[in-house]
Amino acid sequence: MRDWLSHRARTSPDATALVRAVTGEAWDFTELDGMVDEMAGRLVALGVAPGDHVGVVLQPRVEYVTLIHAAMRLGVTLVPLGDRLTARELAEQIETADVTVLVCGAETEARAVEATDDVPLLSVESTTTTEVVSLTSVLPDPIPPASWSLADVQLLLFTSGTTGEPKAVKLTMGNLLASATASMFRLGFDPDDRWLVTLSLHHMGGIAPVLRMPLYGMTVVLRDEFDAGAAADDIDRYDVTAVSLVPTMLRRMLDSRGTLASSLRTVLLGGAPAPRELVERCRDYSIPVYPTYGMTETSSQVATARPDEAFDHVGTVGRPLFWTDVTVVNEDGDRLPPGETGEFVVSGPTVSPGYYNNPEATAAAFDERGLHTGDVGYVDEGGRLYVLNRVDDRIVTGGENVDPGEVADVLRSHPDVHDVAVVGIPDAEWGECVSALVVSDTDELDRSGLRDFAREQLAGFKIPRVIAFADELPRTVSGTVEREAVREQLIERRE
Ligand code: ATP
Ligand code: MG
Repeated sequence: MRDWLSHRARTSPDATALVRAVTGEAWDFTELDGMVDEMAGRLVALGVAPGDHVGVVLQPRVEYVTLIHAAMRLGVTLVPLGDRLTARELAEQIETADVTVLVCGAETEARAVEATDDVPLLSVESTTTTEVVSLTSVLPDPIPPASWSLADVQLLLFTSGTTGEPKAVKLTMGNLLASATASMFRLGFDPDDRWLVTLSLHHMGGIAPVLRMPLYGMTVVLRDEFDAGAAADDIDRYDVTAVSLVPTMLRRMLDSRGTLASSLRTVLLGGAPAPRELVERCRDYSIPVYPTYGMTETSSQVATARPDEAFDHVGTVGRPLFWTDVTVVNEDGDRLPPGETGEFVVSGPTVSPGYYNNPEATAAAFDERGLHTGDVGYVDEGGRLYVLNRVDDRIVTGGENVDPGEVADVLRSHPDVHDVAVVGIPDAEWGECVSALVVSDTDELDRSGLRDFAREQLAGFKIPRVIAFADELPRTVSGTVEREAVREQLIERRE
């Protein structure tokens, strides 16, 4: 048997598998196993066969959870698509990933219908259109057991599209098992854990705990939609022990509730740099924060810092996980010693075999040394990683190279700066000029004061020539700063 849930249903039939946070409804592993069989039956009734690509555009619903495990049970590849994508964007990704059947829900049905003429649709929530097969149609036949190998592609997961068009990452059963076990070795998840899932299920941070729930034997508490106050209350109400968040979510949860319930054992924080101020707030409130670095291509975590490391070595994302090797290389590909800044290259069994339908991008990022991440950073003497910025983000101004991460770190250390993004914008005289979009808590902060502050720590050519203020930084749904949007705002607001 290939799927993890049927094993768990045999060993822990009565343990709680899933709780829907908004209603408190709960299902044990036996019940969930039955729901997965039913979902698998619906897919079989639609003609889905092993090896097919089942797309899903759905909000985080119970049906999404059953679909994830039904796909594994049937030996089909699941293709999670962003539930906020437009019909045009959906159509592109459906084509890129060769989706053969598309599953949608009430909110996404209209866009799904618009996105595709030739792919059969299964709506798990409503039947308002005739093209859509409803869940109340044909009842399932017994599901034939699917054969499997570690090399089977279980997921095609799109990257966030921070640096260009999103790419469909192939993740195999072997990748998923390796990352699930490496994460467990580092963080010690077990059947007593209750994991609040409030990240989108079409990104690794959201789907990973749902996939791993039967492996660890833990309970998933599923929140339909992120709401900072409600998510903080869920932790209290359900004695949640673990949660993955992007930094802006954690900041909003702390802003709304002050602190978080003491049942929490693990707060994984990733997807974007954790601002120093946020990590310090976690220290002050004894919140067990684990800053994490990872990406879609590595099936989630590459490295994770324990709370004590995070507090003592500000800015670190900790040491690589079990099996994962990280080297730092310069532009010629030479390996660099600790302390020197270069690109991270990641290798090990969690690294994807490549992008689907994109041989150019695959050749550019993957070689025999591993995945060239496009992320720039360094490793300290203790083997801890520090992520600074992306290769593409380097600013060249008047012939000088500027690391935007360094400038951002300095600006962020100003007491009135809440958050900041530093980018290069085109400049007639300098080629590019260093520019900063600043989120501040007060109206007191002005440009010249901030420049004077920066000048104490940075060479003149690194001081931002353009500074603008904003209430929030533009971010992708997975929490990374949309640097292109920052650049546009700064160009527009240049004085
Ligand atoms: P695309 O590959 O399409 O440009 P993306 O890289 O943003 O999009 P993801 O795979 O969702 O897509 O995000 C992974 C990236 O997020 C990493 O490569 C890194 O740049 C960034 N990231 C993740 N964790 C951290 C962290 N702790 N600190 C800084 N950056 C991080
Ligand atoms: Mg990427």
